[in-house]
Amino acid sequence: MKKEIKLNVAISILVILVVIGSTMIDMVSSTNALRTSLKTNYLQNNYNYTNKLAEGVQYVTSDLQQSIIAVAELSRSMNFDQNQLDILYKSENGHFNSIFKTDTDGTIKLISPKVIEIQDEESAFIVEAGRKIDANIVKRALTTKEPFISQPYISASGTLLMLVTAPILNENGLFEGVMAGTIYLEEGNPISNVFNSDKYLDGSYIYAVDQSGKIAYHSDGEHLFEDFSENPIVKAINRGKSGYEEITDADGEEYLAGYSYIENLEWGVVLLTPSTILHEPLNHLIRKIVTQSLAVLIVLLIIATFLVKRLTYPLTQLAEYSERVISNKKLNNPNDGLTINSKIYEINQLYRQLRIQLLKLSQEIQLDGLTGLANRKAFDTVIKEWTQKREPFALAMLDIDNFKSINDTYGHLVGDDVIKFLASILISFSREEEDLSFRYGGEEFGLLLKGKSELNAAVIMEQFRVKMANMQSPTGKPITVSVGVTSLQVNDETPETIINRADKALYQSKQAGKNRVTVYKNDGK
Ligand code: GH3
Ligand code: MG
Ligand code: MG
Repeated sequence: MKKEIKLNVAISILVILVVIGSTMIDMVSSTNALRTSLKTNYLQNNYNYTNKLAEGVQYVTSDLQQSIIAVAELSRSMNFDQNQLDILYKSENGHFNSIFKTDTDGTIKLISPKVIEIQDEESAFIVEAGRKIDANIVKRALTTKEPFISQPYISASGTLLMLVTAPILNENGLFEGVMAGTIYLEEGNPISNVFNSDKYLDGSYIYAVDQSGKIAYHSDGEHLFEDFSENPIVKAINRGKSGYEEITDADGEEYLAGYSYIENLEWGVVLLTPSTILHEPLNHLIRKIVTQSLAVLIVLLIIATFLVKRLTYPLTQLAEYSERVISNKKLNNPNDGLTINSKIYEINQLYRQLRIQLLKLSQEIQLDGLTGLANRKAFDTVIKEWTQKREPFALAMLDIDNFKSINDTYGHLVGDDVIKFLASILISFSREEEDLSFRYGGEEFGLLLKGKSELNAAVIMEQFRVKMANMQSPTGKPITVSVGVTSLQVNDETPETIINRADKALYQSKQAGKNRVTVYKNDGK
């Protein structure tokens, strides 16, 4: 057998599926919308921030450039001695790690601080006046005779530095050498100060790359001078581009990147925020949606349970009722015991149809097929009810005389017609509301007469007998009947005793020669 499920279970499942479904749709669309807007926000913020930093770096480096140009110009009007250069160096507030002046050959003429000792594990590198600098950068400064800021490079001493230079011209405009300031990138310096002002607590990091894609600054303090030129963002920067985009690094990690080009240095600055930053607000949103949906689910389930109860109550009633009626516990009047008043059209319709069908069914169960009179079963029910209720009544039982010979003479079909003929006359002797005419079986019939005494009943049955005896039956001749009459007595407890008495009276009629009505007499016979 197929497994049956209850309606409220089915509807609950439906409600749950609908809520889960709409929650999923809500969740997907809301989280997508939030993700997109948060992402755009982060990208734009990062881009704006790198723009600020790029401006900062540009401002600081042009300032440094201006300082060196100023020092170079000063040295034209007054030939610096060590003391004066030291004062100038100090006035730069440590922006430069050193300031020095070369001749046209690249040999240091004057340097502040006077002696610079760069300590290595094995040896010490000393820079002081008289040392000739072979660095290409210095050579370039000597040949171009233009002020410029160098790209980061590793000096002869092994230090990663940048050089800010300006040409020194005498009163006659003749080139005398170069004024230069050094910036050590491995230490705190004016450029790294631009970045250091903020801490990147959300896992973001920031770096600057030079013209060739090498790291000139990195917020995690490592990677200095590493080659990043193959990085797609660095490539874009080296083409002079600024912008923002979501990127995936070599390890598959996603980042929200903003990047800006630094024009004067031809550098770039990049700010990367891990995309995982979006997880927390998205998870928060999902938690919120789920909690809300759960509340909606509970409310809907309560409503659904209530509705299903209301919906199924009349159905359950109908089912129980039809069961009761079919099992014949409530045969008399299928209209009794149930009124359905549902708001649901289909239920009302079902109820109306069921009532009609049950009424028909119960009638069919109670009717004799051949004559349409009440059958034995119906008679049993009614006499039992009347007896129990002590409803006064008389009972007449009758039997067609010599019916066997009718069958034998005219055949069974004519016999049936005779039975139907008698039934139609008998019915005309019974009052519609009060009496019950029935076929007891075969060619035996009866009449239950409500409120009648034996005598009254006997009078009626006598009229019937006379009528039959004088009427032409389907055989072409009249038929006669024998009748026994009795009535409900004080001592009668069961219908059987009453039926027995009527039977005995009927037997007496037969014995006495048939075609007569006998009232049962308690005279010991
Ligand atoms: P009695 O006067 O003593 O009643 O004689 P009877 O011939 O009527 O006797 P009995 O009661 O023994 O016979 C009844 C007959 O009625 C027997 C049966 O064949 C016949 N019969 C019973 N039911 C039907 C029916 O539905 N149709 C027909 N055609 N005959 C029936
Ligand atoms: Mg008989
Ligand atoms: Mg008979």
